[in-house]
Amino acid sequence: MNADSAASALQVAESLCARQGIRLTNLRRIILEILISSAGPLKAYDIIDIARDTGKRITPASIYRTLEFLLQYGLAHRVNTLNAYVPCTEEHKHNPLMFVCSACNKTEEIHDPVLDRSIQTRLGELGLALRNGGVEIQGRCRECSAKDEGASQN
Ligand SMILES: [Zn+2]
Ligand SMILES: [Zn+2]
Repeated sequence: MNADSAASALQVAESLCARQGIRLTNLRRIILEILISSAGPLKAYDIIDIARDTGKRITPASIYRTLEFLLQYGLAHRVNTLNAYVPCTEEHKHNPLMFVCSACNKTEEIHDPVLDRSIQTRLGELGLALRNGGVEIQGRCRECSAKDEGASQN
């Protein structure tokens, strides 16, 4: 994300916090900023390393506590497939369907009521229930698909 869109994403996050009556403390803001500026999902230790490069010390205990907070208020999502985190600046109640590119690790939230409903319905018919873990699908993102096609044409 470039500097301008990162700044506006952070503003959106701030207003989300304000509306929920929670405070974006310094540490929360630093971690959210790192997530927003990253091109892809980050593991907790990646965040600690990036913060250290800019002279900020984050302990393992506080990174997990802060990430939990961000998850709880929907400011970030955990990508279980990668054991990593992505920022979220959209307001939505349910965990999104997360598409994870297995070539470049980029993720994309998919909010598709038809898809959501059919997954829920079919799981229900099989006697299974979707819980807060959410759904993650691995595949190829648009860029990587285009690269694959380019390669096969040569
Ligand atoms: Zn989201
Ligand atoms: Zn990709």
